[in-house]
Amino acid sequence: MRQAGRIVGEVLRLLADIAEPGMTTGQLNRTAGEHIRRRGGEAAFNGYRGFPADVCTSINEEVVHGIPGPRKLREGDLLKVDVGVIWEGYHADAAVTIPVGDVTEEGRFLVRATRMALEAGVRAVRAGARVSDISTAVQQAAEKHGFSLVREYTGHGIGRALHEEPQVPNVARGRLARNSPVLPAGAALAIEPMVNVGTYKTEVLEDGWTVVTRDRKLSAHFEHTVAVEQEGPVILTVP
Ligand code: MG
Repeated sequence: MRQAGRIVGEVLRLLADIAEPGMTTGQLNRTAGEHIRRRGGEAAFNGYRGFPADVCTSINEEVVHGIPGPRKLREGDLLKVDVGVIWEGYHADAAVTIPVGDVTEEGRFLVRATRMALEAGVRAVRAGARVSDISTAVQQAAEKHGFSLVREYTGHGIGRALHEEPQVPNVARGRLARNSPVLPAGAALAIEPMVNVGTYKTEVLEDGWTVVTRDRKLSAHFEHTVAVEQEGPVILTVP
């Protein structure tokens, strides 16, 4: 998983370096896929429930699961890239939000708050903690800035499969938190706050994949695959 995560981290860094106005999301997808295969990995999303590309690219009001294609990046876009890699049967999954050129102050603030929400979630990881400890940390970090957290999609366990138990919600679910699973040492989780400027509600576009905010306001997304160790978290999706 560490090797899968390294490749994911490399791809995200590469795409953040090259993304610029005028480039298409299809070009980003091709660059990502080439790098994954050159490093001996497989693109985990390609063919997953029929997804038709190597990575997901989602722009502005698009939350997650956008399909790369001929759309050109524009100055001021908030581009979310989500990358999954399989290496020798093991998965890693991570995402970043990339500001394209100069973005609005609101956009920059949203990106910073979402990254901090992920960091807060990661810091809550340790053997013996509950999944709800992660949810609570993520939720508080984003809501204190007045933003909302997407509820219809969650983080997840990850390993031999892309999506494993448990779900890792980005909001704490009240009294249910008491029954939230305890994290054993050796588990791995994908923690992935999806944070919206407006409503937390989402809908899926007619392509059957692209998730957008219902009010079409901005959304940001950061994700890491994290190993649960006795002493605390180990982030696997870094170059
Ligand atoms: Mg994920």
